[in-house]
Amino acid sequence: MQFNRLRLNGFKSFVDPTDLIISPGLTGVVGPNGCGKSNLLEALRWIMGENRPTAMRGAGMEDVIFAGTTSRGARHFAEVALIIDNSDRVAPAGFNDSDTLEIIRRITRDAGSAYKVNGREVRARDVQMLFADASTGAHSPALVRQGQISELINARPKARRRVLEEAAGISGLYQRRHEAELKLNGTETNLARLADVADGMT
Ligand code: ATP
Repeated sequence: MQFNRLRLNGFKSFVDPTDLIISPGLTGVVGPNGCGKSNLLEALRWIMGENRPTAMRGAGMEDVIFAGTTSRGARHFAEVALIIDNSDRVAPAGFNDSDTLEIIRRITRDAGSAYKVNGREVRARDVQMLFADASTGAHSPALVRQGQISELINARPKARRRVLEEAAGISGLYQRRHEAELKLNGTETNLARLADVADGMT
């Protein structure tokens, strides 16, 4: 899954619309301290469905919206768009009818987040699964935050196993299994209720 372009608007320090072209191969981002390098990585995590404000270094998710400076007012929304090359058709069924996917996440103050894929509104879960199936996502081990290596060295075996599972691309399957188990439990409860009703009628 090749990421082609990242567009930011009102996301953290990127108050003005900013377009980042991601060419095949290695991309380096260099700049002075505080210029927004980590914010770019966080924008990638966020568009892939990150829902923990702490992973965005904030107290609430609205903290990703440009908060204003002495010379510029705060914004009411933040938007990140990621354009992906899907010519090898790795996206899950339902998203696989086009060579390019444009995923957009937008957060508006007091209204939460909304997602779109190629102009169509989708759920956060759909976007998370899209990336999980492609062995990437907000928790991908390919995205390494500052301090993460030492955390990994000190992590418990279970946490380390999760990192390996993410890398192996099976975390999407776990999510689907969990959802299937919930449905199964619901169906078993309904069956038990049905049996009670049937008993009452005889
Ligand atoms: P370093 O090299 O020190 O790690 P960096 O280039 O990774 O720095 P970031 O941490 O990405 O920089 O950016 C920090 C800047 O982003 C700070 O100036 C901070 O004020 C600004 N910033 C973060 N969130 C917001 C926000 N919601 N609104 C406006 N500015 C923000």
